[in-house]
Amino acid sequence: MEKIDILGVPVHKVDMKEALNASSNFFNKDEKSIIVTPNSEIVMMAKDDEKFLNIIKEADLVIPDGIGLVIASKIVKNPLKERVTGIDLMENILNYCNENNKSIFIIGGKPGVADKAAQNIVKKYPNIKNWGSHHGYFKGYHIGYEGHDEEKEVIDKINEIKPDILFVAFGAPKQELWIQKYKNEIDTSVLMGVGGSVDVYAGEVKRAPKIYQKLGLEWLYRLIKEPWRYKRMMLLPKFIVQVIVTK
Ligand code: UDP
Repeated sequence: MEKIDILGVPVHKVDMKEALNASSNFFNKDEKSIIVTPNSEIVMMAKDDEKFLNIIKEADLVIPDGIGLVIASKIVKNPLKERVTGIDLMENILNYCNENNKSIFIIGGKPGVADKAAQNIVKKYPNIKNWGSHHGYFKGYHIGYEGHDEEKEVIDKINEIKPDILFVAFGAPKQELWIQKYKNEIDTSVLMGVGGSVDVYAGEVKRAPKIYQKLGLEWLYRLIKEPWRYKRMMLLPKFIVQVIVTK
């Protein structure tokens, strides 16, 4: 799969079909596979954070999760095929899991949220019979408590299920750092950072209506609904300027 470079961060030039095809192949591999879903905010974080950047560089699939990246790719004259969001890929992977009797585990979100998300998912995809979930506020490496007993218990709980795929929702870069740290201790084939998607599956947060998604204005909808995000979103114009300047 071809990669393009955006401010030093590599992103796969894939459409949804190719991303899903690559993801489904991960289930049959001996080695573990990692899926990351950067948008322009995350590219801005990663370009100055060597540890985070290396995780993205080494990831097996890096999907372009944001209209900012699509615009940037046009500016550098190496256009991405389309925006492939983490939540849409997660939905397609869940459908694959349902059709192929795969097991899942969801970790992250406030207490109760991961459980609710997982329950909603298995209601929709009843062939996913083996599953588990845990909230993301245990004492663990992602919040500065590496190897805490609570973290060990969570890892044991995941390993009892032996999920084919583990979805981690702590937000970036916490989830990617956590995945990298523990991938070898977790009995799974695929690990994917999914950010706020658990909140959507739990029904806590609504996704933008389709029309916003089609027009590439999902960020605008989020800005209206979650105005405290404006600080992070101010990175988007900065990102575009940097892409133009460093072209
Ligand atoms: N979260 C978590 N543990 C933490 C911090 C955050 O489980 O220590 C969860 C939070 O509850 C939310 C998710 O991480 O469900 C993603 O948060 P956010 O939407 O801020 O991340 P983004 O996807 O925008 O990076």
